[in-house]
Amino acid sequence: MNEVLLSIRNLNATYNADSNRSIHAIRDLNIDVLRGEVLALVGESGSGKSTMGLSILRLIESPHEIKGNITFNGVDEQVSVFDLDPYKIREFRWKKVAMVFQSAMNILNPVMRVEAQFIDTFEAHGIIDDYDKRINHYLELAGLGKKVRRLYPHELSGGMKQRVNIALALSCEPELLIADEPTTALDVVVQREVLYELRRLKEELNLTIIFITHDLGVASSIADRIAVFYAGRIVEINKKDEITNNPMHPYSKLLLSTAITLKTDKDSVLTQLEGTPPDLSVEIKGCSFYPRCPVRENACKSFTPNDQAKGEWVECIKPGAMNLKEVDNPRGERR
Ligand code: ATP
Ligand code: MG
Repeated sequence: MNEVLLSIRNLNATYNADSNRSIHAIRDLNIDVLRGEVLALVGESGSGKSTMGLSILRLIESPHEIKGNITFNGVDEQVSVFDLDPYKIREFRWKKVAMVFQSAMNILNPVMRVEAQFIDTFEAHGIIDDYDKRINHYLELAGLGKKVRRLYPHELSGGMKQRVNIALALSCEPELLIADEPTTALDVVVQREVLYELRRLKEELNLTIIFITHDLGVASSIADRIAVFYAGRIVEINKKDEITNNPMHPYSKLLLSTAITLKTDKDSVLTQLEGTPPDLSVEIKGCSFYPRCPVRENACKSFTPNDQAKGEWVECIKPGAMNLKEVDNPRGERR
């Protein structure tokens, strides 16, 4: 599973929301996504997870800016995503890479039956035959029966809506699926079912999945690798077991101490993450986690991040330095 499917280099995304304030949401990000893996992107709200997903599909448009390079090595061709012309980018979206958007629960058209939403998607992407067979097939893949075809979105439960969204995203047979917080609005039981379904689909369809969540517990139940996001960068990336058993970055440790994972026992004390992430409209010098880090030292102020594209990576001058006792004191008040 070491073949690189998607390669992101020096990605920078800036939202020019108003004339005097730009938000640097992704800062020099490098990552390789491997064919066949489930890669989870984990981090607090505003850390840039969705922006990475949207950048891959080139859905960040003027006045906002994206720079860098994204290369997709599909089974039939290799494309540089930022070089695609308008026709090719349409082909690329959904046929190579599909996305279940954050808040996808509300994305279905309320006045169209489920089957009509499939037909719309097929027509938009040049699929012209076998609609009936295809709709049944993708609904079944997502764990839904044929009856769902005739229903309107308001007749579906939250879990069913999310399954319809997943079925729609798969209906053009993409190689990579980006699922942005697909289980966040669901209760725990339905959440578990959808996670199971996604994992099964990955095996059945030979999919690669980028799974976005703010919940390290959820990430640990589906991912092969986990990338921890902080302030527009990946501060740690490693195999799921390494991140959940032995996180090296102080932020990953703190995030783990706030999450319920399969290894959390009944006596564990969950902590709360103190402080707030930095303002991304102001240039960040040195380590972005410095103000919140319980083990910070002066050298961290001038720390220059290195390339983190390959394999495992920790963006910290003292990886593994923080022990669990310090997690009990997340603000580092002893200083
Ligand atoms: P969440 O977990 O809340 O979904 P996220 O990690 O997905 O967060 P992004 O949505 O990628 O984070 O946002 C990264 C940063 O960019 C945040 O500071 C956010 O406020 C800002 N941002 C996102 N979209 C826009 C936009 N359209 N205009 C201006 N700023 C934006
Ligand atoms: Mg998001």
